Amino acid sequence: MGTAFEPFELSEQNYSLNQSFMKALVYYGARDVRVSEVPDPKIEQPTDVLVRITTTNICGSDLHMYEGRTNMEEGRIFGHENLGEVIEVGNAVVNIKVGDMVCMPFNIGCGHCKNCESGLTAFCLTMNPGFAGAAYGFAGMGPYDGGQAEYLRVPYGDFNCLKLPEDAQEKENDYVLLSDIFPTGFHATQLAGVKPGDNVVIYGAGPVGLMATISAGIKGANKIMVVDDHPDRLKLAEELGGIPIDFSKAPAVDQVLELTDGLGADRGCECVGYQCCDKHGHEHNNIIMNELVQAVKFTGSIGVVGVFVAPDPKAEDPLAKKGHMDFDFGNFWLKGQSIATGQANVKSYNRQLCGLISSGKAKPSVIISHELSLDDAPDGYKHFDARDKGWTKVILKPGQQGATKTQAVEREAVTA
Ligand code: ZN
Ligand code: ZN
Repeated sequence: MGTAFEPFELSEQNYSLNQSFMKALVYYGARDVRVSEVPDPKIEQPTDVLVRITTTNICGSDLHMYEGRTNMEEGRIFGHENLGEVIEVGNAVVNIKVGDMVCMPFNIGCGHCKNCESGLTAFCLTMNPGFAGAAYGFAGMGPYDGGQAEYLRVPYGDFNCLKLPEDAQEKENDYVLLSDIFPTGFHATQLAGVKPGDNVVIYGAGPVGLMATISAGIKGANKIMVVDDHPDRLKLAEELGGIPIDFSKAPAVDQVLELTDGLGADRGCECVGYQCCDKHGHEHNNIIMNELVQAVKFTGSIGVVGVFVAPDPKAEDPLAKKGHMDFDFGNFWLKGQSIATGQANVKSYNRQLCGLISSGKAKPSVIISHELSLDDAPDGYKHFDARDKGWTKVILKPGQQGATKTQAVEREAVTA
Protein backbone atom coordinates (compact mmCIF):
# COMPACT_ATOMS: atom_id res chain seq x y z
CA MET A 1 0.00 0.00 0.00
CA GLY A 2 2.98 2.33 0.39
CA THR A 3 3.68 4.80 -2.35
CA ALA A 4 6.26 2.46 -3.87
CA PHE A 5 3.49 -0.01 -4.59
CA GLU A 6 1.02 2.30 -6.26
CA PRO A 7 -1.06 1.74 -8.19
CA PHE A 8 -1.92 -1.26 -6.08
CA GLU A 9 -4.49 -3.82 -7.12
CA LEU A 10 -6.94 -3.85 -4.22
CA SER A 11 -9.53 -6.48 -3.50
CA GLU A 12 -11.25 -7.98 -0.54
CA GLN A 13 -8.68 -10.76 -0.39
CA ASN A 14 -5.97 -10.53 2.22
CA TYR A 15 -2.58 -9.64 0.88
CA SER A 16 0.74 -10.08 2.52
CA LEU A 17 1.93 -6.50 2.67
CA ASN A 18 4.76 -6.80 5.11
CA GLN A 19 7.38 -5.47 2.73
CA SER A 20 6.01 -2.02 2.14
CA PHE A 21 6.40 1.11 4.19
CA MET A 22 4.32 4.16 4.89
CA LYS A 23 4.84 7.57 6.40
CA ALA A 24 3.61 8.07 9.95
CA LEU A 25 4.03 10.55 12.77
CA VAL A 26 6.17 8.75 15.35
CA TYR A 27 6.77 9.69 18.98
CA TYR A 28 10.48 9.87 19.88
CA GLY A 29 10.20 11.48 23.31
CA ALA A 30 8.97 14.64 25.00
CA ARG A 31 8.19 17.31 22.37
CA ASP A 32 9.92 15.20 19.72
CA VAL A 33 7.66 13.78 17.03
CA ARG A 34 8.86 13.07 13.50
CA VAL A 35 7.45 11.78 10.27
CA SER A 36 9.17 8.43 9.74
CA GLU A 37 8.89 5.41 7.47
CA VAL A 38 7.27 2.51 9.27
CA PRO A 39 5.96 -0.85 8.05
CA ASP A 40 2.51 -0.69 6.53
CA PRO A 41 -0.25 -2.07 8.72
CA LYS A 42 -1.85 -5.25 7.45
CA ILE A 43 -4.91 -7.36 8.07
CA GLU A 44 -4.12 -9.36 11.21
CA GLN A 45 -7.56 -10.72 12.04
CA PRO A 46 -10.36 -11.66 9.64
CA THR A 47 -12.48 -8.93 11.30
CA ASP A 48 -9.93 -6.18 10.49
CA VAL A 49 -10.35 -3.38 7.99
CA LEU A 50 -7.53 -1.34 6.46
CA VAL A 51 -8.17 2.34 5.86
CA ARG A 52 -6.22 4.82 3.75
CA ILE A 53 -6.34 7.88 5.97
CA THR A 54 -7.45 11.05 4.23
CA THR A 55 -7.99 13.24 7.32
CA THR A 56 -6.64 12.80 10.84
CA ASN A 57 -6.60 15.38 13.62
CA ILE A 58 -4.24 16.52 16.31
CA CYS A 59 -6.16 16.43 19.59
CA GLY A 60 -5.61 18.31 22.82
CA SER A 61 -5.20 14.95 24.51
CA ASP A 62 -2.30 14.14 22.13
CA LEU A 63 -0.50 17.01 23.83
CA HIS A 64 -0.38 15.18 27.18
CA MET A 65 1.68 12.51 25.42
CA TYR A 66 3.60 14.99 23.26
CA GLU A 67 4.71 16.88 26.36
CA GLY A 68 6.05 13.67 27.87
CA ARG A 69 3.44 13.68 30.63
CA THR A 70 2.43 10.04 30.06
CA ASN A 71 4.11 6.68 29.81
CA MET A 72 3.72 6.68 26.01
CA GLU A 73 6.28 4.32 24.50
CA GLU A 74 8.81 5.78 22.05
CA GLY A 75 8.27 4.56 18.52
CA ARG A 76 4.47 4.61 18.72
CA ILE A 77 2.29 6.35 16.14
CA PHE A 78 -0.06 9.09 17.37
CA GLY A 79 -3.57 9.75 16.07
CA HIS A 80 -6.97 8.70 17.36
CA GLU A 81 -9.23 10.98 15.26
CA ASN A 82 -9.31 9.27 11.91
CA LEU A 83 -11.27 9.23 8.66
CA GLY A 84 -10.50 7.64 5.34
CA GLU A 85 -11.28 5.20 2.57
CA VAL A 86 -11.47 1.46 3.10
CA ILE A 87 -8.86 -0.27 0.95
CA GLU A 88 -8.99 -3.82 2.25
CA VAL A 89 -11.27 -5.89 4.45
CA GLY A 90 -10.73 -9.18 6.27
CA ASN A 91 -12.66 -12.32 5.34
CA ALA A 92 -15.12 -11.97 8.22
CA VAL A 93 -16.08 -8.36 7.52
CA VAL A 94 -19.58 -8.24 6.06
CA ASN A 95 -20.91 -4.69 6.22
CA ILE A 96 -17.94 -2.49 5.38
CA LYS A 97 -16.73 -2.64 1.76
CA VAL A 98 -13.65 -1.53 -0.13
CA GLY A 99 -14.22 2.05 -1.26
CA ASP A 100 -16.43 3.04 1.68
CA MET A 101 -15.60 6.36 3.32
CA VAL A 102 -15.53 5.73 7.06
CA CYS A 103 -14.89 7.59 10.30
CA MET A 104 -13.63 5.68 13.32
CA PRO A 105 -14.52 6.45 16.94
CA PHE A 106 -11.32 6.99 18.91
CA ASN A 107 -12.47 4.19 21.21
CA ILE A 108 -11.83 0.70 19.89
CA GLY A 109 -14.64 -1.61 20.96
CA CYS A 110 -15.14 -5.32 20.45
CA GLY A 111 -18.92 -5.05 20.21
CA HIS A 112 -19.59 -8.18 22.22
CA CYS A 113 -18.42 -7.58 25.80
CA LYS A 114 -20.75 -6.57 28.64
CA ASN A 115 -19.88 -2.87 28.34
CA CYS A 116 -19.96 -2.68 24.53
CA GLU A 117 -23.36 -4.40 24.57
CA SER A 118 -24.62 -1.59 26.82
CA GLY A 119 -23.23 1.11 24.54
CA LEU A 120 -20.30 1.82 26.85
CA THR A 121 -17.71 1.40 24.11
CA ALA A 122 -15.24 3.73 25.84
CA PHE A 123 -14.95 1.02 28.48
CA CYS A 124 -14.62 -2.09 26.31
CA LEU A 125 -13.49 -5.02 28.44
CA THR A 126 -11.65 -7.07 25.84
CA MET A 127 -9.59 -4.77 23.60
CA ASN A 128 -7.14 -3.75 26.33
CA PRO A 129 -7.08 -6.59 28.86
CA GLY A 130 -6.62 -5.56 32.49
CA PHE A 131 -8.21 -2.18 31.80
CA ALA A 132 -11.51 -1.02 30.35
CA GLY A 133 -11.11 1.00 27.19
CA ALA A 134 -8.86 1.03 24.14
CA ALA A 135 -7.91 3.68 21.59
CA TYR A 136 -5.65 4.24 18.60
CA GLY A 137 -2.22 5.71 19.34
CA PHE A 138 -2.83 6.47 22.97
CA ALA A 139 -0.84 5.93 26.17
CA GLY A 140 -2.30 3.20 28.34
CA MET A 141 -5.09 2.42 25.88
CA GLY A 142 -3.68 -0.71 24.28
CA PRO A 143 -1.05 -1.46 21.64
CA TYR A 144 -2.96 0.01 18.70
CA ASP A 145 -1.19 2.29 16.25
CA GLY A 146 -2.62 5.70 15.56
CA GLY A 147 -3.84 7.13 12.30
CA GLN A 148 -1.52 10.11 11.88
CA ALA A 149 -0.16 8.02 9.07
CA GLU A 150 -1.01 6.99 5.54
CA TYR A 151 -2.81 3.81 6.61
CA LEU A 152 -4.57 2.44 9.68
CA ARG A 153 -5.64 -1.02 10.80
CA VAL A 154 -9.12 -0.95 12.32
CA PRO A 155 -9.96 -3.97 14.52
CA TYR A 156 -13.55 -5.24 14.34
CA GLY A 157 -14.12 -3.09 11.29
CA ASP A 158 -17.84 -3.74 11.05
CA PHE A 159 -18.30 -2.41 14.58
CA ASN A 160 -15.73 0.39 14.64
CA CYS A 161 -16.23 2.01 11.22
CA LEU A 162 -19.06 4.49 10.78
CA LYS A 163 -19.92 4.41 7.09
CA LEU A 164 -20.37 8.01 5.91
CA PRO A 165 -23.06 9.34 3.57
CA GLU A 166 -22.66 10.32 -0.09
CA ASP A 167 -21.36 13.76 0.80
CA ALA A 168 -18.44 12.25 2.76
CA GLN A 169 -15.73 13.96 0.75
CA GLU A 170 -17.49 17.29 0.46
CA LYS A 171 -17.99 17.49 4.25
CA GLU A 172 -14.90 15.53 5.24
CA ASN A 173 -13.67 18.21 7.66
CA ASP A 174 -17.01 18.04 9.50
CA TYR A 175 -17.28 14.26 9.52
CA VAL A 176 -13.75 13.75 10.84
CA LEU A 177 -14.82 15.51 14.04
CA LEU A 178 -17.19 12.59 14.67
CA SER A 179 -14.13 10.56 15.66
CA ASP A 180 -13.82 12.32 19.00
CA ILE A 181 -14.44 15.96 19.77
CA PHE A 182 -18.00 16.43 18.52
CA PRO A 183 -19.27 13.31 20.36
CA THR A 184 -17.04 14.20 23.34
CA GLY A 185 -18.48 17.71 23.54
CA PHE A 186 -21.94 16.21 23.24
CA HIS A 187 -21.07 13.68 25.96
CA ALA A 188 -20.16 16.55 28.30
CA THR A 189 -23.68 17.92 27.94
CA GLN A 190 -25.13 14.43 28.27
CA LEU A 191 -23.15 13.72 31.49
CA ALA A 192 -24.23 17.11 32.83
CA GLY A 193 -27.85 16.32 31.98
CA VAL A 194 -28.44 19.43 29.86
CA LYS A 195 -32.13 19.87 29.06
CA PRO A 196 -34.03 22.49 27.03
CA GLY A 197 -34.02 25.85 28.81
CA ASP A 198 -31.08 25.04 31.09
CA ASN A 199 -28.41 27.62 31.78
CA VAL A 200 -25.09 25.91 31.13
CA VAL A 201 -21.55 26.89 32.04
CA ILE A 202 -18.79 25.30 29.97
CA TYR A 203 -15.21 25.53 31.19
CA GLY A 204 -12.77 25.58 28.29
CA ALA A 205 -13.22 27.05 24.82
CA GLY A 206 -10.79 24.62 23.24
CA PRO A 207 -12.10 22.26 20.57
CA VAL A 208 -14.07 20.09 23.01
CA GLY A 209 -15.55 23.06 24.87
CA LEU A 210 -16.61 24.55 21.54
CA MET A 211 -18.23 21.25 20.58
CA ALA A 212 -20.01 21.25 23.94
CA THR A 213 -21.19 24.76 23.09
CA ILE A 214 -22.68 23.54 19.81
CA SER A 215 -24.15 20.50 21.61
CA ALA A 216 -25.79 22.57 24.35
CA GLY A 217 -27.37 24.61 21.55
CA ILE A 218 -28.60 21.43 19.86
CA LYS A 219 -30.17 20.40 23.17
CA GLY A 220 -32.02 23.69 23.49
CA ALA A 221 -30.06 25.22 26.35
CA ASN A 222 -30.85 28.80 27.33
CA LYS A 223 -27.69 30.67 28.37
CA ILE A 224 -24.49 28.89 27.32
CA MET A 225 -21.65 30.54 29.23
CA VAL A 226 -18.16 29.61 28.01
CA VAL A 227 -15.14 30.24 30.25
CA ASP A 228 -11.63 30.76 28.86
CA ASP A 229 -8.97 33.47 28.63
CA HIS A 230 -8.01 33.17 24.95
CA PRO A 231 -9.81 35.98 23.07
CA ASP A 232 -9.77 34.08 19.75
CA ARG A 233 -11.38 31.01 21.32
CA LEU A 234 -13.95 33.08 23.18
CA LYS A 235 -14.84 34.83 19.94
CA LEU A 236 -15.50 31.46 18.32
CA ALA A 237 -17.60 30.41 21.30
CA GLU A 238 -19.66 33.56 20.85
CA GLU A 239 -20.13 32.86 17.14
CA LEU A 240 -21.42 29.41 18.11
CA GLY A 241 -24.06 30.85 20.42
CA GLY A 242 -22.09 31.03 23.66
CA ILE A 243 -21.70 33.93 26.09
CA PRO A 244 -17.94 34.53 26.45
CA ILE A 245 -16.67 34.59 30.04
CA ASP A 246 -13.08 35.86 30.13
CA PHE A 247 -11.62 34.82 33.47
CA SER A 248 -8.60 37.05 33.00
CA LYS A 249 -10.89 40.07 33.28
CA ALA A 250 -12.98 39.08 36.33
CA PRO A 251 -13.48 35.84 38.29
CA ALA A 252 -15.53 33.44 36.15
CA VAL A 253 -17.75 32.42 39.07
CA ASP A 254 -18.78 36.04 39.68
CA GLN A 255 -19.64 36.49 36.01
CA VAL A 256 -21.72 33.29 35.94
CA LEU A 257 -23.59 34.19 39.14
CA GLU A 258 -24.33 37.62 37.73
CA LEU A 259 -25.80 36.10 34.58
CA THR A 260 -27.96 33.67 36.57
CA ASP A 261 -29.54 35.95 39.21
CA GLY A 262 -27.04 34.73 41.77
CA LEU A 263 -28.27 31.15 41.51
CA GLY A 264 -25.55 29.59 39.39
CA ALA A 265 -25.83 27.57 36.20
CA ASP A 266 -28.14 24.56 36.08
CA ARG A 267 -25.44 22.44 34.45
CA GLY A 268 -21.67 22.60 34.24
CA CYS A 269 -19.30 21.04 31.73
CA GLU A 270 -15.59 20.49 32.36
CA CYS A 271 -13.79 20.46 29.00
CA VAL A 272 -10.18 21.14 30.01
CA GLY A 273 -8.76 18.38 32.19
CA TYR A 274 -5.95 18.03 34.68
CA GLN A 275 -3.61 20.51 33.03
CA CYS A 276 -5.87 23.45 33.76
CA CYS A 277 -4.14 26.66 34.75
CA ASP A 278 -4.82 29.73 36.81
CA LYS A 279 -4.68 33.19 35.24
CA HIS A 280 -0.93 33.24 35.75
CA GLY A 281 -0.53 30.08 33.70
CA HIS A 282 0.28 27.87 36.70
CA GLU A 283 -1.13 24.36 36.55
CA HIS A 284 -3.52 23.32 39.35
CA ASN A 285 -5.64 20.25 38.61
CA ASN A 286 -8.41 21.33 41.02
CA ILE A 287 -9.15 24.87 39.84
CA ILE A 288 -11.95 24.15 37.43
CA MET A 289 -13.61 21.42 39.49
CA ASN A 290 -13.81 23.73 42.49
CA GLU A 291 -15.03 26.64 40.36
CA LEU A 292 -17.74 24.42 38.91
CA VAL A 293 -18.99 23.64 42.41
CA GLN A 294 -19.33 27.38 42.96
CA ALA A 295 -20.67 28.30 39.52
CA VAL A 296 -23.33 25.56 39.39
CA LYS A 297 -26.56 25.91 41.37
CA PHE A 298 -27.65 23.89 44.40
CA THR A 299 -28.72 20.43 43.06
CA GLY A 300 -27.10 21.19 39.71
CA SER A 301 -25.08 18.61 37.82
CA ILE A 302 -21.60 18.58 36.34
CA GLY A 303 -20.22 16.58 33.41
CA VAL A 304 -16.46 16.05 33.21
CA VAL A 305 -14.89 15.00 29.90
CA GLY A 306 -11.52 16.73 30.28
CA VAL A 307 -8.75 14.18 30.81
CA PHE A 308 -7.62 13.46 34.37
CA VAL A 309 -4.93 10.89 35.05
CA ALA A 310 -3.81 8.71 37.92
CA PRO A 311 -1.04 8.93 38.77
CA ASP A 312 0.67 11.97 37.22
CA PRO A 313 4.31 11.61 38.37
CA LYS A 314 5.50 14.67 36.46
CA ALA A 315 3.07 17.06 38.14
CA GLU A 316 4.57 19.59 40.54
CA ASP A 317 1.82 19.41 43.14
CA PRO A 318 2.27 16.44 45.53
CA LEU A 319 -1.45 15.58 45.44
CA ALA A 320 -1.55 15.79 41.64
CA LYS A 321 1.48 13.48 41.48
CA LYS A 322 -0.75 10.78 42.95
CA GLY A 323 -3.62 11.70 40.64
CA HIS A 324 -5.50 13.23 43.60
CA MET A 325 -6.84 16.73 43.98
CA ASP A 326 -7.82 19.17 46.68
CA PHE A 327 -11.54 19.08 45.91
CA ASP A 328 -14.13 21.09 47.82
CA PHE A 329 -16.25 18.07 48.63
CA GLY A 330 -17.97 19.74 51.56
CA ASN A 331 -19.43 22.50 49.44
CA PHE A 332 -20.25 20.01 46.69
CA TRP A 333 -22.17 17.86 49.19
CA LEU A 334 -23.92 20.82 50.83
CA LYS A 335 -25.12 21.96 47.43
CA GLY A 336 -26.49 18.51 46.63
CA GLN A 337 -24.73 18.44 43.31
CA SER A 338 -23.82 15.45 41.19
CA ILE A 339 -20.87 14.72 38.93
CA ALA A 340 -20.59 12.31 36.04
CA THR A 341 -17.27 11.66 34.35
CA GLY A 342 -15.36 9.82 31.72
CA GLN A 343 -14.48 9.39 28.10
CA ALA A 344 -17.20 9.60 25.51
CA ASN A 345 -18.77 6.43 24.19
CA VAL A 346 -18.42 7.85 20.70
CA LYS A 347 -20.48 5.12 19.09
CA SER A 348 -23.50 6.15 21.16
CA TYR A 349 -23.64 9.50 19.38
CA ASN A 350 -21.69 9.43 16.11
CA ARG A 351 -24.47 8.17 13.85
CA GLN A 352 -26.96 10.78 15.12
CA LEU A 353 -24.47 13.63 14.96
CA CYS A 354 -23.48 12.45 11.48
CA GLY A 355 -27.10 12.95 10.44
CA LEU A 356 -27.06 16.51 11.76
CA ILE A 357 -23.95 17.26 9.71
CA SER A 358 -25.40 15.67 6.60
CA SER A 359 -28.62 17.68 6.86
CA GLY A 360 -26.69 20.90 7.47
CA LYS A 361 -27.95 21.35 11.03
CA ALA A 362 -24.45 21.14 12.49
CA LYS A 363 -21.20 22.41 11.03
CA PRO A 364 -18.49 21.55 13.57
CA SER A 365 -15.67 22.22 11.08
CA VAL A 366 -16.02 25.95 11.78
CA ILE A 367 -13.51 25.49 14.60
CA ILE A 368 -10.77 24.06 12.35
CA SER A 369 -7.99 26.61 12.11
CA HIS A 370 -5.22 24.76 10.29
CA GLU A 371 -5.07 22.12 7.59
CA LEU A 372 -1.60 20.62 7.15
CA SER A 373 0.10 17.83 5.24
CA LEU A 374 1.42 14.92 7.29
CA ASP A 375 4.96 16.23 6.68
CA ASP A 376 4.03 19.41 8.52
CA ALA A 377 2.58 17.59 11.52
CA PRO A 378 5.63 18.15 13.78
CA ASP A 379 5.32 21.87 13.16
CA GLY A 380 1.60 21.68 13.84
CA TYR A 381 2.27 20.01 17.19
CA LYS A 382 4.70 22.75 18.14
CA HIS A 383 2.22 25.56 17.48
CA PHE A 384 -0.78 23.76 18.95
CA ASP A 385 1.20 22.82 22.07
CA ALA A 386 2.30 26.43 22.52
CA ARG A 387 -1.39 27.45 22.30
CA ASP A 388 -0.26 29.93 19.66
CA LYS A 389 -2.89 32.45 18.78
CA GLY A 390 -5.38 31.12 16.27
CA TRP A 391 -4.22 27.48 16.47
CA THR A 392 -7.59 26.13 17.61
CA LYS A 393 -7.83 22.80 15.82
CA VAL A 394 -5.29 21.23 13.50
CA ILE A 395 -6.18 18.60 10.95
CA LEU A 396 -3.76 16.62 8.81
CA LYS A 397 -4.17 15.38 5.25
CA PRO A 398 -1.79 12.42 4.82
CA GLY A 399 -2.78 12.00 1.18
CA GLN A 400 -1.64 15.46 0.23
CA GLN A 401 1.93 14.69 -0.74
CA GLY A 402 4.27 17.63 -0.86
CA ALA A 403 1.69 20.13 0.29
CA THR A 404 4.12 21.41 2.83
CA LYS A 405 2.72 24.87 3.26
CA THR A 406 1.18 25.71 6.57
CA GLN A 407 -2.31 26.72 5.69
CA ALA A 408 -4.49 28.70 7.96
CA VAL A 409 -8.01 27.83 7.04
CA GLU A 410 -10.17 30.75 6.09
CA ARG A 411 -13.23 30.59 8.26
CA GLU A 412 -16.68 30.81 6.83
CA ALA A 413 -19.34 32.71 8.68
CA VAL A 414 -20.81 30.50 11.34
CA THR A 415 -24.38 29.69 10.53
CA ALA A 416 -24.91 26.33 12.20
ZN1 ZN B 1 -9.11 13.41 20.53
ZN1 ZN C 1 -16.12 -4.59 24.16
